[in-house]
Amino acid sequence: MSIGNKKINYISNEFKFTLCVIVCVIVHSSVMVFGWFFHVYPLMIFNIFSVAIYTLCLFLVKSHQRLVYYYAFVEIVFHSFVSVILIGHDFGFSMYFILLVPISYNMLYSINVKRPILKSTVVSVISCFFYALCYYLAKTREPIYQSQQLSDITPYVYVVNIMFTYGILGTFSILFLLETEAAFGELNNKNKELGILANTDPLTGLYNRRTMAERIKKLYGDYKGNKTPFSLIICDIDDFKRFNDTYGHDCGDAVLKSIAKELTSLTRDRDYLCRWGGEEFLILLNCIEIEKAREIAERFRTNIEKMEVSYNDLNLHISMTFGVACVVEAESYNHLFKIADERLYEGKNSGKNCVK
Ligand code: C2E
Ligand code: C2E
Ligand code: MG
Repeated sequence: MSIGNKKINYISNEFKFTLCVIVCVIVHSSVMVFGWFFHVYPLMIFNIFSVAIYTLCLFLVKSHQRLVYYYAFVEIVFHSFVSVILIGHDFGFSMYFILLVPISYNMLYSINVKRPILKSTVVSVISCFFYALCYYLAKTREPIYQSQQLSDITPYVYVVNIMFTYGILGTFSILFLLETEAAFGELNNKNKELGILANTDPLTGLYNRRTMAERIKKLYGDYKGNKTPFSLIICDIDDFKRFNDTYGHDCGDAVLKSIAKELTSLTRDRDYLCRWGGEEFLILLNCIEIEKAREIAERFRTNIEKMEVSYNDLNLHISMTFGVACVVEAESYNHLFKIADERLYEGKNSGKNCVK
C-alpha cells in the first residue's frame, strides 16, 4: 500500500512470504507423499527437491524476497505443468496457475520492484498461457501415469486442491483489506495533520490569518441575512520590537507564546482567536455588540498588563493596544477591518495600552 511516494507495509513482507513458503512446503510435502504412495516417482522426486528448496527459502524470506518470489513462480508453473502431463488435468493442480495472479500483484507491489503492475501482468499472461496449454495437452493426449488407484483418488485430490486454493485466496483477500483499511487510516491522520498545519500558526498554535479571514467572511455573509451581530478585537503588543532587539528573537517568540496562552485562557472556547500578523492578534466575538466587546477587550488589557513573562532570568512586562469594531458599523467586509485598524492606530497614537 502506498500514500504518495511512501510505501506503507502494515503486514510485513516477511510475514507474507513466510506464510506463502510454509503453504508451499505443506502442499509439496503432501504431493511428495502422494507421488510415493501412488508410484508416480517423477512427481515424488520433483517434490523432494521442491520441499528442500522451499525449506531453504524460509531462511531467505527476510533478505531475498525477490529471489524467493521468482523461484516460487517458476516452480509453481513448472510443477503444475509437470503434474498435468504426468497424471492429467482432473486432479486440479492447474488451479495454482490462477492463484499466481492475485498473489503476484500483491507480492510484486509489496516488495517494491520497478513497474510492479507491468511485471504482474506479464506473470499473469504467462500463467494464463500455461493453464490453457495444460488444458489443451490434457484433452488431446493421455496422461503418462494412469491406474485405477489414481482414478479413485482423483476427486479427493481435486477437493484438497480447491480447499488450498480458496484458503490462500481468502487469506490474501483479508490481508489486502487490512492493508487498505490501515492505509486509509493513515491517510486520514495525514489529512488531519495537514488540516491543522494549514489552519494554525506554528509558533502559537492559534488559528492563522487565512482561517480567521474565511471565518469572518462567512459570519459577514450570515450577518447580511440574519443580522446577528459580531465584533472584532484587533490587538497589538506595544513596543514589541524592543524584546527582539534587546533580548533576541527567542525572547520575542516567548512573549508571543505567552500572549497567545493568556488570550486563550481569557476567551470562551467558542470565541475565535488568531495570530493575525507579526505581533498582532485578532479575536472574533460572535453575538457581541460594540460596548460589550470593548468591556471584554478591557478585561484582556488589564489581565495582560498584570502578566509577567519569564524569559531566562528576566521578568518581562507587556502591554497591548486594542482596536474594536462591530459589524453593525461597517459598510462592507473590508470596512470592518478598516474600522478596527484605525481604532488600533488611534490607540497607538494616544499613548498605547488602551482600548479604542
Ligand atoms: P459579564 O462579564 O458582564 O458579561 C456579560 C455578557 O457578555 C455575558 O453574558 C456574555 O454574553 C458576554 N461575554 C462576556 N465575556 C465574554 C467572552 O469572553 N466571550 C463571549 N463570547 N461572551 C462574553 P452571560 O454569558 O449571560 O454572563 C453573564 C455574567 O456571568 C457575566 O457578566 C459574568 O459576570 C458571569 N460569567 C459568565 N461566564 C463567566 C466566566 O467564564 N468567567 C467569569 N469570571 N464570569 C463569567
Ligand atoms: P471559558 O468559557 O473558556 O472562559 C475562559 C475565561 O474567559 C474565563 O475564565 C474568564 O476569564 C473569561 N470569560 C469568559 N466569559 C466571561 C464573561 O462572561 N465574563 C467575564 N468577566 N469573563 C469571562 P474563568 O472565569 O476562570 O472561567 C473558567 C471557565 O469556567 C470558563 O471557561 C467556563 O467554562 C466556566 N465558567 C466560569 N464562570 C462561568 C459562568 O458564570 N457561567 C458559565 N456557563 N461558565 C462559567
Ligand atoms: Mg478558553
